[in-house]
Amino acid sequence: MYEFVLVSLYFTIIGLFAVSMFCLSKWGGRLQTYLFFNCVAHLVYNCAYLLMMHAKDQQTYVTALKIGYLGRVWVGLAMTLFVAELCGKQIPRFLKIIAGVFDMFVYFFILHLESTKLYYKKMEFVINGDFPTLPHSGGAIYYCFTLLNLFYAYVCMHLIIAAFVREKNKTAKKRNLTVMFALIAMCLSYIIYFFKLIPLARIFDTMIIGYAICTALMLIAIIKYKMLDATSAAKNYAVDELSEGIIVVDADDQVSYYNKPALSMFPQLAQTDKTGVLTQRMLDDFESAIGSGEPIKRGGRIYTPRANPLMENGSRIGTLYSLSDDSEHYRYMEELREQKRIADQANRAKSLFLANMSHEIRTPINAVLGFNEMISRECDKVTASDDPKSPAVAEALGNIETYSENIGGAGNNLLSIINSILDLSKIEAGKMDLSEDTYNLKTLLKDITGMIRFRAEEKGLGFVTDVAESLPSELYGDMVRIRQVIINILTNSVKYTDKGTVWLTVRAKEAEPYEKDRMLTLSFTIRDTGIGIRKEDMQKLFGSFERLELERNSTIEGTGLGLAISRQLVSMMGGKIEAQSEYGKGSTFTIDLPQKVVECEPIGNFSSKAENAGKNEPYKASFTAPDAKVLVVDDTKLNLKLVKALLRDTKLAIDTADSGSEALELCAQNAYDLILMDQRMPNMDGTETMKQIRSQENGQNRETPVICMTADAIIGSRERYLAEGFDDYLSKPIKINELEQTLKEHLNGA
Ligand code: ADP
Repeated sequence: MYEFVLVSLYFTIIGLFAVSMFCLSKWGGRLQTYLFFNCVAHLVYNCAYLLMMHAKDQQTYVTALKIGYLGRVWVGLAMTLFVAELCGKQIPRFLKIIAGVFDMFVYFFILHLESTKLYYKKMEFVINGDFPTLPHSGGAIYYCFTLLNLFYAYVCMHLIIAAFVREKNKTAKKRNLTVMFALIAMCLSYIIYFFKLIPLARIFDTMIIGYAICTALMLIAIIKYKMLDATSAAKNYAVDELSEGIIVVDADDQVSYYNKPALSMFPQLAQTDKTGVLTQRMLDDFESAIGSGEPIKRGGRIYTPRANPLMENGSRIGTLYSLSDDSEHYRYMEELREQKRIADQANRAKSLFLANMSHEIRTPINAVLGFNEMISRECDKVTASDDPKSPAVAEALGNIETYSENIGGAGNNLLSIINSILDLSKIEAGKMDLSEDTYNLKTLLKDITGMIRFRAEEKGLGFVTDVAESLPSELYGDMVRIRQVIINILTNSVKYTDKGTVWLTVRAKEAEPYEKDRMLTLSFTIRDTGIGIRKEDMQKLFGSFERLELERNSTIEGTGLGLAISRQLVSMMGGKIEAQSEYGKGSTFTIDLPQKVVECEPIGNFSSKAENAGKNEPYKASFTAPDAKVLVVDDTKLNLKLVKALLRDTKLAIDTADSGSEALELCAQNAYDLILMDQRMPNMDGTETMKQIRSQENGQNRETPVICMTADAIIGSRERYLAEGFDDYLSKPIKINELEQTLKEHLNGA
């Protein structure tokens, strides 16, 4: 027996040595460190025990025992740390320190075994057969240390059993099972020795056999199940450190692996799921989330699941589900949505403000321009009449005409500023739409040059036009916007030129012949001999509200919006605008616009000396209709007076109403040929009044055309009012030509 024990001791020492070397060769992680610590502790005890087995007297035996305990006091702690690490549990640092201090405390009493008598109360060296032994009775520290070791054994068993049950990876499961057997062997041998359950335990520390079995099993765990394989440990570590949750199911949809983040997302993974219901529910959640593209919400976090089928030899052996934590992304998106909502709200508030502002300013301008028109008509009449006039009256008349022209100029200027602001806000809101149609190029150029020639001549500037005769006469595009852009640039040239000439050249980039339905690039070049633009100001030129050389240009009216709007409009039309300038000498603007050819017929010789261009002809009504009856509805009495005055020469019979209800009363009594309806009125607005007129019982005006007349010129107003049921739309300030034209159209139809 003695020999058997010696042999097993040698084997254990060799085994422990081998495991220690293995740990050293795979050095790197905490697991290796703790296992190495464990082996060294065992090794020290085993080597000392070998000495004890050869002791001939008590002194030698006790000295060897003290050396052995240098290792043995650490065995329980080292094993617990190792098992905890293997099972992925962290033992708090302070607990490790307390346990270490306690072990050193115990060792102190072992070193002073004989004097303190707190570890062994009594002891006596006896040679039992061949076995040197030291029967003893334990002291207080001995029992404390035994209890602590039993506690360690309990913790280790608990951890390894829990890990074994939880583990889905088959290899890891087997490895944990092996370690569990190793621990059982060690615990059993300890219990057998402590309670002397077999006769051998009286003469020999059976834990040595326990260690031997434990060591052999650890070797199996290390070699067969790659317990210390750095690569697989690293892979596990890396996979656990991912922010993504990883869950692997086999072909039968049984979970075979998951990483730490997955466990924290789905704690049910740790539960034993014999029926498979929990797993199935979880997988169903994944599949429906993947199908619908919706994320999964868990514990305040948002995860996006993805499924990757795992294939081997063409058949599916399982599925890898990955769940990325996209909470930050969704939070960011949520924030963006919120910011967008706030921005939209602010934008709506801005639009509303612009609509109000536009309305509030346009209403008085309407009156100013309208009555100014009346003043000018009255002056024309008096001037044209043959009544003799005194020189003073003639002079006063001339002055009044001039003042009226000035009022008209200033009013129109104010209007164009409001229009610019509205245009810019439309563009910014992305609500500026192009309205493309076939147009006559000559008409467009006449419109433009007529207006500019007048302004240039007023300033004493030359205005030269050069239009290629071969240009097609009819094109397809947004004539209104082209006119706006070209007039804008030409107006600038006139504004910023004190003497010299302004040139307008119109060409096509492509050579003739032009083909119907083909695109051509219409190129306008506007050159002036004006003040020019400094090099450093060139890049500011097209910015909103950007005016250059403010001191120098302070007397020139402008908002700094013209070029910004022009550039936006040109780019909306698919074209480009460029500027070149020599400071002090003049500037050249080029605008290229792609347009579709509708009629190839050449435009021919274009003479800008258009008849009566820009000159104010004395007013003459474009039609008269004494039999037609018109109702004008507006809550501003001044406007009613104005419309009546403006239409006086048409001889229309005009009734007025200053509210929706009065309009309804009049409509019940009279049949009108046409109704002009203001939109914004207190109590009942224009739309409501129009609808009531249309549905009036026995009403005489259910079919009468109703024209919306409003100062509300904001984005899409026209379309909105037509969609509400109005027959036409007129914006204030009323332009007499437009008003007469519209009335003529609808009255003719009546
Ligand atoms: P504004 O209403 O001030 O004319 P624009 O946007 O049309 O606004 O022009 C911006 C600025 O560019 C002007 O204030 C002016 O300083 C400069 N500018 C534009 N056209 C010319 C030009 N033909 N010659 C010199 N300066 C010009």
